[in-house]
Amino acid sequence: MAKVSPYHTNSLEEPPEHREVYHDHDDCFEGKKIQKKHWESGNGGKPRCKQCIKLG
Ligand SMILES: [Zn+2]
Repeated sequence: MAKVSPYHTNSLEEPPEHREVYHDHDDCFEGKKIQKKHWESGNGGKPRCKQCIKLG
């Protein structure tokens, strides 16, 4: 359980809901649904994931 640099995806191979937010926790179950090969660094100008906000 750790905070990581913000990551997001813009991959069209991911479902739209995966492209709507960015994550900054490596144990976020929403973030884990994104395939690692589709990770892009930064927040991508997207809002923060609700699960990541809960994780703190
Ligand atoms: Zn998240």
